[in-house]
Amino acid sequence: MGRLVVVSNRVAAADGASGGLAVAIAAALQGESAVWFGWSGERTAHFDGALASRRLGDLEIVTLDLEDLDFDEYYNGYANAALWPVFHSRTDLAAYDRSFSEGYARVNRRFAETLAPLLRADDLVWVHDYHLIPLGRELRRLGFAGPIGFFLHIPWPAPQLFTTLPQHRDLAQALFAYDLVGMQTDECVAAFEAYVLGEAGGALEGGRLKAFGRQLRAQAFPIGLDTDDFLALGRTPDALRAYDRMSAHGLYRSLIVGVDRLDYSKGIPERLLGFEHYLKTHPEMVRKVLYLQIAPSSRADVEAYQALRANVLAQAGRINAAWAEMDHAPVLCVIRNYSRAELAGVYRAARVGLVTPLRDGMNLVAKEYVAAQAPEDPGVLILSRFAGAARQMKDALIVNPYAREELADALAEALGMDRRERVRRWQALMAGVSQSDVHAWRDDFIGALTLAHSGQAPAERPRRTPLTLGRAPLSSLAPRRDPPGHDGAVSASGWRTTAQG
Ligand code: ADP
Repeated sequence: MGRLVVVSNRVAAADGASGGLAVAIAAALQGESAVWFGWSGERTAHFDGALASRRLGDLEIVTLDLEDLDFDEYYNGYANAALWPVFHSRTDLAAYDRSFSEGYARVNRRFAETLAPLLRADDLVWVHDYHLIPLGRELRRLGFAGPIGFFLHIPWPAPQLFTTLPQHRDLAQALFAYDLVGMQTDECVAAFEAYVLGEAGGALEGGRLKAFGRQLRAQAFPIGLDTDDFLALGRTPDALRAYDRMSAHGLYRSLIVGVDRLDYSKGIPERLLGFEHYLKTHPEMVRKVLYLQIAPSSRADVEAYQALRANVLAQAGRINAAWAEMDHAPVLCVIRNYSRAELAGVYRAARVGLVTPLRDGMNLVAKEYVAAQAPEDPGVLILSRFAGAARQMKDALIVNPYAREELADALAEALGMDRRERVRRWQALMAGVSQSDVHAWRDDFIGALTLAHSGQAPAERPRRTPLTLGRAPLSSLAPRRDPPGHDGAVSASGWRTTAQG
């Protein structure tokens, strides 16, 4: 029986401190006997392909070190200063240097050349995210003929934006080495199809995209939380302490919370302007609200991120200078990390969750905020229409994050919302967060990849069949809450639904 081999730029850190993607993959692989391959996060003077291996439960984690130049050109360069801004519609921030794309190609080759000898013919390979688009093609070049799937965690851009990358054609062609390309939303899949049909002379036939002499299946698989795990985190002493602390702090004030990596895609300066507009238009509320923005620093080596940090702190300072009194400041901006347990407590204490990215593949903070709420007295989620999550979470207050008046109106509506309406919205949101969790995402993707590789077309959506990869059937790994007859279909709203007829 073949193994599941997952490849991502970063793997779960040994000390437990991992980014969002690594947390999601770790949850998806929990209890599975799989291999997880990626960069160690360490640098070496000369790349020699040496691998380190450790175990995390049944999971074998295999890592390689990269050279300084790899880090500059592949990671800080092409991945985070070209692909990330372009895919988040920020061509103004993109660096199109040729050395970056060369470094990106080199590191993908290095990943493939060190991974290929470890692969067995019946393995199933699942590659994650924008750092590793060419990896599948490199593995094919080295002779691997089994199923390879790719999942993009960030948005796929509109064709006009994608074509600003000088290597756009090569990147698109690289994707055609995969059997299945998964994205967060139907909108992203449509943008990819539009590029393939409009720019690459491709065709869409029988649900398969054909171009560059190959074919693939492209489909949306919205990622979810490890919801049960997050609910359990919310009951830990750390979470309860954070809840008590923030509830006491907010005794006479309603807490509004934002939690984001300090990234320009998250819309933090625009959010601050929206909050400021709310204060201007609701002066009677100035002493009754506190906006807490938790924003750990991110990619601090990249120039745009340094400018963002200065901008956010300056804006928060300016708003406080205008509105603070000696015993009250309306904005609290905290540039640091907290444990996810502590975040669960803070979310629960907050009357409003303000999640307003300018562009986001999914946004898991929106789902965490919902999962953390008290069922009998939940807070209100304000969610940007440009987050992938908005395609599913229609009972949030959906806003245009660029429009400060709209943000201010949503804050007024959220803070004034009666309990009945809050409970009604929360119940609908929580049902989706519970059902479309990370385990369902994994099962759907792997089921579809198996079918795509065997050349079978899924009748509608892929059935969640018990897949035997490694020792355990994947669908037996997590307790499911699906209603009987559930077939893994996704409703028009994006949440999974029971099969019709
Ligand atoms: P992204 O992957 O772009 O950072 P997501 O919202 O999808 O955005 O995922 C972010 C993850 O990082 C969430 O699980 C969230 O809890 C976590 N996170 C965000 N901010 C912090 C913070 N200040 N401390 C700890 N974890 C954080």
